[in-house]
Amino acid sequence: MSRPDDNPPISGDGFPDAFSTLSVHGGERRSKAGNALVTPIAQTATYTFADTQELCDHHEGRIEREEYGRYGNPTQAVVERKIAALERAGSALVFSSGMNAITTTLFAFLSKGGHMIITDDSYRRTRQFCTKVLTRFGVDVSVVPCGDYDRLESTIKPNTRVLFSETPTNPYLNVLDLERFAAIGRKYRVKTIVDATFATPINSRPIEYGIDLVIHAATKYLGGHNDLLAGAVAGNPPLVAGVKDMLSVLGGVPDPFACWLLLRGLKTLSLRVERQNANALAIARFLEKHPAIERVYYPGLESHPQHAIAARQMRGFGGVVSFEVKGDLEEVSRFIDACRIPRIAPSLGGVESLIEQPALMSFYELSTEERLAVGIKNNLVRMAVGIEDGGSLIADLEQALRVLSA
Ligand SMILES: *Cc1c(COP(=O)(O)O)cnc(C)c1O
Repeated sequence: MSRPDDNPPISGDGFPDAFSTLSVHGGERRSKAGNALVTPIAQTATYTFADTQELCDHHEGRIEREEYGRYGNPTQAVVERKIAALERAGSALVFSSGMNAITTTLFAFLSKGGHMIITDDSYRRTRQFCTKVLTRFGVDVSVVPCGDYDRLESTIKPNTRVLFSETPTNPYLNVLDLERFAAIGRKYRVKTIVDATFATPINSRPIEYGIDLVIHAATKYLGGHNDLLAGAVAGNPPLVAGVKDMLSVLGGVPDPFACWLLLRGLKTLSLRVERQNANALAIARFLEKHPAIERVYYPGLESHPQHAIAARQMRGFGGVVSFEVKGDLEEVSRFIDACRIPRIAPSLGGVESLIEQPALMSFYELSTEERLAVGIKNNLVRMAVGIEDGGSLIADLEQALRVLSA
């Protein structure tokens, strides 16, 4: 009698803590090499064939096995199954970085003469890839304001192949109406791709709203420990297979150790995100009432322009809080420097809280005027909340904000 060895019987339904269960067990095989509990790592670049017959059986698809490192490794296969389980997608693929997931996916779906639409207020490097790189290869790219669905629809042309957006966006945490975005894609038979890095599958699963492909910078929440770079794409198997073919050519594959770290990080995804949701909401509420704060951007606040959409399609509102401090660039820097717990660094989604002034981090080389043109104010702060004690984070912000009245 063989026991079911593949995906364990965890549908995610009917378990009160289904997300934790999926995080720990989703995608994992019951029996593993060496009877190990934890999925082992095969730190190898290539894989051997016992004989020529096995090689031919592999080519003919009669057996499932590894071939060469660029086409995948056994640890990667398990991470991919876990991400697919968490996203309720048929299939998933892991990459060497979030940008690699984005560029490989767009290369897979776009050709010379094709057109794509990306919403503004999206990750700067993604927009740069679309408007500065894809255009060099004869792809027509339009940028439309995030949240303007009429404009999105009227920008679609007969050669439009992809609609690309993010939710929530960086740094203003605008929330995309996934149902509406997906419906527009379906109506015009255009693929919809959403970078849901800031949401995580714990808070929102775009596939459930009809989005074709969901992308993650797994470097952020999925990895969760600021110790790896990775990206992921999830969706239905034929679409993901097309991206995999492109990945095999472009070569942005994750190495076995990064896959192992990602798999380890994913086990605590739901616990971490629940704490980050709670911490961020408490911090956003604290800041909104603080006299030194001009404005807070957080989808969980009633004051957020898309709070209703967020409340409908998100289980939690995420771990990033953006806010404008009453003060100029230098005064805001003094506040940042006075924080004792959050560290100054780019990135987000890890267990450590991070804080930054976008004007001095991602937009440093721009002038104040150029920054304003892309909507970045000098007094804007982005805090990526970690899993520390929420009370101590608030106490720390409170003491740091005192430098502004000193
Ligand atoms: C960080 C990030 C990326 C890029 O991911 P890398 O792993 O750094 O390449 C893409 N999209 C969003 C929303 C991100 O936050």
